[in-house]
Amino acid sequence: MTDGRKKVEKTDAEWRAQLSPEQYRITRKQGTERAFTGEYWDTKEPGVYRCVCCGEPLFDGQTKYESGTGWPSFSAPLDPGAVETREDRSLFMRRTEVVCARCDAHLGHVFPDGPRPTGLRYCLNSAALDFEAADAAGDPRAEPDAGAAGTEIGDAAGAGGAESTGPDAAASDPADR
Ligand SMILES: [Zn+2]
Repeated sequence: MTDGRKKVEKTDAEWRAQLSPEQYRITRKQGTERAFTGEYWDTKEPGVYRCVCCGEPLFDGQTKYESGTGWPSFSAPLDPGAVETREDRSLFMRRTEVVCARCDAHLGHVFPDGPRPTGLRYCLNSAALDFEAADAAGDPRAEPDAGAAGTEIGDAAGAGGAESTGPDAAASDPADR
């Protein structure tokens, strides 16, 4: 399953040149951004989160949920082989580090207190991710009228649960991945 995934290896200097100081500190030096400061902790739009270092798609917005921690949290990776885990005993704690399987970028940690069905909480740093909104990915059947507005229909039509029964939700479900 991992044979198709070529490892990306770069020198420290190359990573430093490619990334912003914050991205470099977090992904290459096992850093952690401050809670509620990252770009994506509150992002709810559908789309794919890629590794900021190598561009590999790692997490789907469908598995993102509100954990209340101030960091983007997911219940599962996009693909089981997309990320790898390692034991992390730093800071006098015993945690499980999550890294990009392709380039070893530090993404965050995974904890066993997530929602069902996985029971996992992938607690990640926004700075390690690059979000690609679903409609920016070039879906030819993007909604014609709601186009630009981010929160569109839900607000206009009231809170009747329109978001889960919308035509788009139904259409995009089986497609998954
Ligand atoms: Zn990567």
